[in-house]
Amino acid sequence: GRLKQGLEKTRKGITEKVDTILKSYQKIDEELFEELEEVLITADMGVNTTMRIIEDLKDKVKEKKIKEVFEIRELLKEELKEILTDVESDNKINIEPSPAIILVVGVNGVGKTTTIGKLAYRLKKEGKKVLIAAGDTFRAAAIDQLQEWANRAGVEIIAHKEGSDPAAVIFDGIQAAKARKADVLICDTAGRLHNKKNLMNELNKIFRIVEREFSEATREVLLVVDATTGQNAIMQAKVFKEACDITGIVLTKLDGTAKGGVVLAVQSELNVPVKLVGVGERIEDLQDFDPQNFVEAIFA
Ligand code: GDP
Repeated sequence: GRLKQGLEKTRKGITEKVDTILKSYQKIDEELFEELEEVLITADMGVNTTMRIIEDLKDKVKEKKIKEVFEIRELLKEELKEILTDVESDNKINIEPSPAIILVVGVNGVGKTTTIGKLAYRLKKEGKKVLIAAGDTFRAAAIDQLQEWANRAGVEIIAHKEGSDPAAVIFDGIQAAKARKADVLICDTAGRLHNKKNLMNELNKIFRIVEREFSEATREVLLVVDATTGQNAIMQAKVFKEACDITGIVLTKLDGTAKGGVVLAVQSELNVPVKLVGVGERIEDLQDFDPQNFVEAIFA
């Protein structure tokens, strides 16, 4: 399906290379592990995660007394699944009971607006009443673009003028969501990282309002990062994690990179679950992140 298609480049970048390596070895030795290590690092899994994978693989080979090179493939799949499920909270979005709020944060250009549109569309299709709040008041274009996505998704949007107080927009959104009995309020926020201190103060202010109005069970703070930016995405995630309590990560543009291994790096380095992945520009191209399906799709 869509996921497999979206992960085509990553499948080539990881699995095809792994298969080629495995075919060229007669027995399992140190050199083989070194070659595998290189593939994983090139796929942006991060040095720490890669080391852990390779060490675990070696242990398993010993433990299970594995002799055949081809058996490494299954072991590697198993290992990736294990690492992807080794995170404190699960990969599901929390929007029960309603009304719930989803705060969407991230740097400009990563795909925040697109993700909000796709998510609104999806939730609406699932029968939810969705409302969007245009909390990026810094750029007029951001408000217009979000309006377009809201139209496409067929949901209502709360927006103020460019330059108005973002926290006031979010506050209005919350009141409107309650008055209109919406199930989910999705809030956009600004992403101008060049003015980091102001941005983080702004997010903090919004976050405090959200905390006051919604219980932990009914609020999600999703950080959107661009998979094609690799280790940069991880740096950004660390900055945002300091400013607000990120509950999940959305990894966009996975279709545009062979380095989908960044999913593992971002999740294990931040200990925050990846909850959604963007696999294309169309409104349907947003998928729940499921570790089993993800690994199966890249090894398909
Ligand atoms: P924002 O500045 O963070 O709001 O970013 P936008 O939502 O405007 O997206 C920036 C660009 O990334 C647009 O051209 C989108 O079409 C593109 N984009 C967003 N998500 C994806 C994705 O999952 N796959 C691909 N290929 N492009 C995406």
